[in-house]
Amino acid sequence: MTVTVDTAKLPVLLNELRLPTFARLWPEFAERADKESWPAARFLAALAELELAERAQRRIERHLAEARLPAGKTLDGFDFTAVPMVSKAQIQAMAAGDAWLNQGKNLLLFGPPGVGKSHLAAALSRAMVENGYRVLFTRTTDLVQRLQTARQELGLAAAIDKLDRFHLLVLDDLSYVRKTQAETSVLFELIAARYERRSLMITANQPFGEWDSVFPDKAMTVAAIDRLVHHATIVEMNVESYRRRSAIDRTSAEPEEA
Ligand code: ADP
Ligand code: MG
Repeated sequence: MTVTVDTAKLPVLLNELRLPTFARLWPEFAERADKESWPAARFLAALAELELAERAQRRIERHLAEARLPAGKTLDGFDFTAVPMVSKAQIQAMAAGDAWLNQGKNLLLFGPPGVGKSHLAAALSRAMVENGYRVLFTRTTDLVQRLQTARQELGLAAAIDKLDRFHLLVLDDLSYVRKTQAETSVLFELIAARYERRSLMITANQPFGEWDSVFPDKAMTVAAIDRLVHHATIVEMNVESYRRRSAIDRTSAEPEEA
C-alpha cells in the first residue's frame, strides 16, 4: 500500500477521527520526540494514552452536567457528627463501591427538613458520577410533572425507558407529591419499571406511614413501598435541623453588645 503523507492535513484528519487531544498535543510531542529521538511507537502511545484519559474526563464532565446536582454538596463537606445515626463508613463504602448500583439497589433517606438529606443524596450522587455512572437528580414533583405530560401524549413508557440510561435516579422530596399528581400513578409505574434493575435514591420528610398522598390508593402505596424497600438501605436522619442549628450557633457566637 502506498501512502502519501501530507502532514499539513493532520489537523483535519485528527478532527475527522475525533481525536482532539491528539490534535492539540501532537506538535509539542513531535518536537520532543524528534529532539529526544523517541521511537515512533512511544510517540504514538503517549498521545493515545492522553487521548483516552481526557476522553474519560470529558465523559465525566458531561455526566456531571446532565446530573443536575445541586452545587457544592460533597461528602467532604458533610459533617457526619451532626447525624450520628448515619454511618460514615457505610456511606463511604457506597461512594467507593458499585455493587449497589449494578444490582439496582435503592437508598432511602428519611428525616425532617434541614437535616442534610438532599446534601447527602447529592454528594453520594456526585461520587457515583465520578466513578463513571450516570445519575439524574430531580425534585420528585418536577419529575412527576414531566411523566404526567408524557402520559397525556401517550409516551409514558418511552419516557420511563429513557430514564433507564441513568444508573441512579434521585427523587428528592418524594413526600411533596400532591394528591392530584398522585392520581395519575406515574410515580408507581416508574418505581415498578426500575425495580431490581436500576437504582433509586429517595429523600422524604415523611416515613412510609404518611405516604398515602403520594400514590392514588392504599394498595398502590403498599405495592410501591414493597418494591422500594426490597433491596434498599434505609437511613433515618432524625436530628435537629442543621440549618437551624448552625443559625443558632452563629447567634451564640456573636460577641455580646456592651
Ligand atoms: P434536607 O434536604 O434534609 O431538608 P439539606 O440537605 O437541604 O436538608 O440541608 C440544609 C442545609 O444544611 C444545606 O445547606 C446543607 O448543605 C447543610 N447541611 C445539612 N446537614 C449537614 C451536615 N451534616 N454537614 C454539612 N452541611 C449540612
Ligand atoms: Mg432537601
